[in-house]
Amino acid sequence: MSPPSPAPVPWLLLLLLIAAAAVASAQTTPMALDVNEIPQRYDEAQLWRIYNISEAMQRQVPVSQVLEQKFGGNIWKENSKFLDISIAKEQLKAARSFLNAQRLDAQVLSGNVQALIDEEHMDGINATRADPGQRTKKATRSSMHWKDYHDLETIYAFMREIRSKFPNIVRLYTIGQSAEGRDLKVLRISENPREYKKIWIDGGIHAREWISPATVTFILYQLMSNWENQPAHIRGLTWYIMPVMNPDGYEYTRTTNRLWRKNRSPTRRSSCVGVDLNRNFDIGWSGYGSSTNPCSDTYRGSAPASEAETKVVTEFLAKRKYNLEAYLTYHSYGQMIVYPWAYKAVKVRDASVLQRVGNTAVQRIAQKTGSTYEAAVTHEVLGIAGGGSDDWSRAALGVKYVYTVELRDRGAYGFVLPPKYIKDTALEGWTVAETVAQAIG
Ligand SMILES: [Zn+2]
Repeated sequence: MSPPSPAPVPWLLLLLLIAAAAVASAQTTPMALDVNEIPQRYDEAQLWRIYNISEAMQRQVPVSQVLEQKFGGNIWKENSKFLDISIAKEQLKAARSFLNAQRLDAQVLSGNVQALIDEEHMDGINATRADPGQRTKKATRSSMHWKDYHDLETIYAFMREIRSKFPNIVRLYTIGQSAEGRDLKVLRISENPREYKKIWIDGGIHAREWISPATVTFILYQLMSNWENQPAHIRGLTWYIMPVMNPDGYEYTRTTNRLWRKNRSPTRRSSCVGVDLNRNFDIGWSGYGSSTNPCSDTYRGSAPASEAETKVVTEFLAKRKYNLEAYLTYHSYGQMIVYPWAYKAVKVRDASVLQRVGNTAVQRIAQKTGSTYEAAVTHEVLGIAGGGSDDWSRAALGVKYVYTVELRDRGAYGFVLPPKYIKDTALEGWTVAETVAQAIG
């Protein structure tokens, strides 16, 4: 005889409890830790600025490539004047010797990158302390503000809120899904369904450039908080606004690796993840300035527009190219307003017009916040790079006012800009949009 079995109901209940507990723990602490989900720390990693790398290049030594591949360096910025790169603590000595052998010197911009990241985090907590819970609260309604950076869901909730407040002039599109299945969202603002000239604004192509989605959402706020009183050159446009083009990468920088740049699509034949979306557009794709190595931060992907994010945006814009007058894309950092071309060392025909409008924006920014920006042709100040969204919009769609805006700062914090600078920086981004809208007329 088997021992009397307990009543079936408690057993079932117990199983359900175990299952529920398993689900709950899987959500907070995964059972099998994927190495890609262990938060990346940068304790005592240094951020270096290295000048004169072009001289070493002439001696056939690709400095940034060597530092990235041999010494695990994380390239922050590379332009015609300098290279900013962070090096992990364990590699500092070896990387220094390499530079010495190349007769190069590194200026230390930061002695501890993790401290920058922690400072950014604490600054946001302090800024929102008067409003407890704001950082963690799951928003049922948009809890948008510009005292801190926000997760994707808060940004999307804000977009839904704008749509519901202005149902007659605002449409919210889900134009597709990212590699990991997140929605790609675009807001359209227009008082006229057809004839208006169009302006496109995007942010968050590069995951770690948090100031970019913050600025693009601020532009949206500036537009809509005062829509009735906006001048004719603003109300007379159709605005397309996409705050986060790379939602997978953005969320990854919030949970796992603050300095992640690419999207999160897996690569065949390599364990490295992600494509640089701003090297994946179909313009000069196989040319200079991008990498064929899936482990590189500037990996261009397996083909032009191979990435879901690139493809979806490309198709959405191609269908709306009629009257598309401006393409603005927000990045960081460097405080620059640059225009095509980036993929070749040539200016566009109407470069003088683009330079003049850029200069106007630079002057207005200086008056408003005191910051110094520079307007220039991309290839002259940032070097040649193919596959960029800006060049693509010009070449494929014939957009006139094409600008990439590199927001704050100039290297003190780089991507890890403390939240106390968000408002003024976003105001600078808005000033560019306003100036371009006026130029379209
Ligand atoms: Zn960028």
